[in-house]
Amino acid sequence: MQAKKTKAELQDKDLLRYNRNIVLPEIDIDGQLSLLKSKVAVIGLGGIGCPAATYLASSGVGHLCLIDFDHVSLSNLNRQVLFSEDDISEKKAEAAKKNLQSLNSEIDIKSIPRKIDNKFDKDLLKDYDYIIDCTDNFQTRSEVNNISIANKIPLISGAAIKMQGQIATFRNDLDNMPCYRCLYNDLPDTSPSCLDSGILGSVTGLVGTMLATECIKLICNIGDNFGSKLMLIDMKNYEFKTININKDHECKFCG
Ligand SMILES: [Zn+2]
Repeated sequence: MQAKKTKAELQDKDLLRYNRNIVLPEIDIDGQLSLLKSKVAVIGLGGIGCPAATYLASSGVGHLCLIDFDHVSLSNLNRQVLFSEDDISEKKAEAAKKNLQSLNSEIDIKSIPRKIDNKFDKDLLKDYDYIIDCTDNFQTRSEVNNISIANKIPLISGAAIKMQGQIATFRNDLDNMPCYRCLYNDLPDTSPSCLDSGILGSVTGLVGTMLATECIKLICNIGDNFGSKLMLIDMKNYEFKTININKDHECKFCG
C-alpha cells in the first residue's frame, strides 16, 4: 500500500505560499503535491491565456509550457493582463514567462514562441499532462485537438467574443469521448475576430480563470468537470447554459 504523502514533502515556504490552497479539504497536501508535479501547456497567450496561465502559476502548477507566436501590442492591453506597456513588441511567450516567473520563481516555465499549425512537432507536448487551448480561430483549435489526440492528453478549451464565452473539456486521454471536431465537424472558413466584433477584457478574464479552475479540478480530482459538456456564457444577459457534446462516431479525428 502506498504511504500517504505528508507535509514533509513540502518545504516550509511552500506550506506558506500555498496555505490557502492546502486549507481547502478538496486540495490538502496531496492536491498541492499533485499541482507541483503537474505539467500543463497553455496555447495562446491572449485575453484567455493570460489569466489562465497566471492562476496556474500562482496555484503552484510546477511545470508550465507557454506557446504563442505573436508579439505584445498596445491593443492587447485591454484584456491580456499578464502584459504591461513595458512588454510592447516583445514575444508574448517570452514576456509571459518573465512575468509569471516573477510571480512564482519556484516553478519551471518553458516558452515556445511558435505558431501552431500542421508543421508543429506534436512530440514537443508529449510529456504534458493537460493542454489548455486559448487560441482564437477554428483552424488552430483543430490543430491543438490533433496534438491532444495524438498524445492522449485532456484538452481544456475556451473562447470568447463580444460579451460571450464558452468552455469545454475534451477527454482525449480516454476512449469513446467526443473531441473538438465531434463538436465542430465542418470548420467555418473564417473565425469571428475580436478586431471586428470587439471583446470585453473582463469576459476573457472570466473564461480564462474558469479554464484554470477546470485544470486544477482535474489535477486534484475534485468534483464534476466539463468533460463532454460545453458551457455557454452570455454576460450581457447574465445567462449560463450547459449542453452535452455527443461523440460523432464518424469523426475522422478521434476515430
Ligand atoms: Zn471527434
